[in-house]
Amino acid sequence: MIFELTILGANAAIPAHGRFPTSQVLCINHRYYMIDCGEGAQIQLFRHKIKINKIHAIFISHLHGDHYFGLMGLLNTMNLRGRTEPLYLHAPKGLQEIITLQLKYSHAVLNYSLHFIETNQEKSVFLFEDEKVTVHTIPLLHRIPCCGFLFREKAKDKNLIKEKIPIDLPIAGRIALKKGEDFEHNNQILKNEDYTHLPNKRRSYAFCSDTVYLPSSALIEIIKGVDLLYHEATFTHIHEKRAAQTFHSTGKQAALIAQEARVAKLILGHFSTRYYDLSPLLEEAKEVFPNAALAIEGETFSVEE
Ligand SMILES: [Zn+2]
Ligand SMILES: [Zn+2]
Repeated sequence: MIFELTILGANAAIPAHGRFPTSQVLCINHRYYMIDCGEGAQIQLFRHKIKINKIHAIFISHLHGDHYFGLMGLLNTMNLRGRTEPLYLHAPKGLQEIITLQLKYSHAVLNYSLHFIETNQEKSVFLFEDEKVTVHTIPLLHRIPCCGFLFREKAKDKNLIKEKIPIDLPIAGRIALKKGEDFEHNNQILKNEDYTHLPNKRRSYAFCSDTVYLPSSALIEIIKGVDLLYHEATFTHIHEKRAAQTFHSTGKQAALIAQEARVAKLILGHFSTRYYDLSPLLEEAKEVFPNAALAIEGETFSVEE
């Protein structure tokens, strides 16, 4: 099953050097979840052939414009493209007021329902679930209330050892074995451990943007061991002071967080416009945490089962 992150934008503050502001889409088993929606996000969706009305839910980290200015256009296009499915929008307090006001003054009526769910930036809380995934908030420290998002696959069924399964075993028996139960068949007890393998691991993705460097903090516990971590790296470490003053992080600091949380892979993003060439950011991160990559528009990052 697919577990794949596509980067739509990862520049900070403004579009620059051909880079778009923050936006990305996580696809889990053909369900699409958008994370942040910077200006131009819908252009990027078209460019990378992601159908906008397949997006099931949107998660906005905070209300700095580079993380949500693409939203109004996207909501409008969803309507023009015939959306009828409800849309779930998880965002800080204030977004509902902003969107409602824009709809009001353009006399726009959407043919689908918008559901606003306010996020909690103070502590990690459950936010969303469907049959495949759960999402929790990740409190971050920024100039305005801000949180990241932790996506984790739900517990999975065990895998059947197909060559051992009796041909005449009814569906109920297969389901019971997958759920970890024994099953009586033809007056014989099928012992679960003889007929199943352990389930595939639960894959996870943590999105952390924007934030000041938060070592040895609650953040580490929340993101510990995730398969994929996106952490902002607005500046190189020469500008450590500037990063702290503006409540951002450096490439090296993002790598230190990845190292401390023992994640499998780090993706750097939210690049300052001062960097045309991003290789110094990647190099300083790799010195601390070798399995690091840059969030480049159009790149996808897959987690295998
Ligand atoms: Zn930002
Ligand atoms: Zn910000």
